Amino acid sequence: MDDVKESCPICGAESEVQFLPTEIPYFGEIMIFTAVCSSCGYHATDVMVLSEERRKRCELLISSVEDLNALVVRSTSGTIEIPELGVRIEPKRGEAFISTVEGVLRRVESVVKMLSRDSARKKRANDVLKRIDEIKSGEASMTLIIDDPTGSSAIIADKVIKN
Ligand SMILES: [Zn+2]
Repeated sequence: MDDVKESCPICGAESEVQFLPTEIPYFGEIMIFTAVCSSCGYHATDVMVLSEERRKRCELLISSVEDLNALVVRSTSGTIEIPELGVRIEPKRGEAFISTVEGVLRRVESVVKMLSRDSARKKRANDVLKRIDEIKSGEASMTLIIDDPTGSSAIIADKVIKN
């Protein structure tokens, strides 16, 4: 692991950036970057796919409970879309993540639950939450799409790898 100094985008102090290479079985290597500023506490992460699987657009049909275990590597330049739910997660500086499809659905759920407090959005929000429950139990399907112009994001699933 190498440590590199970089100036903090919030307070300008010198902060430490860590690089953590991680091997994903049957896929290849990804690099995880973490920057933590010791003066102001700013925290940022990013990920980058290093394997030959680099693609600008990844798509996976989630149609069974097993598909929920596929791994989603989302860099800070990746946009996630789930057309069936009308969901789009825009890239955000410092907020990369590695999660399962189920984990992504949990993130969507918590945002939609917040929106459902607004009475004008309640009906639509409840429809989305119901659909998510159906997807989680394998009764409904959805498409997970990641668009990443840098090719740093990926969806890693057996069925993608075998193709
Ligand atoms: Zn700082």
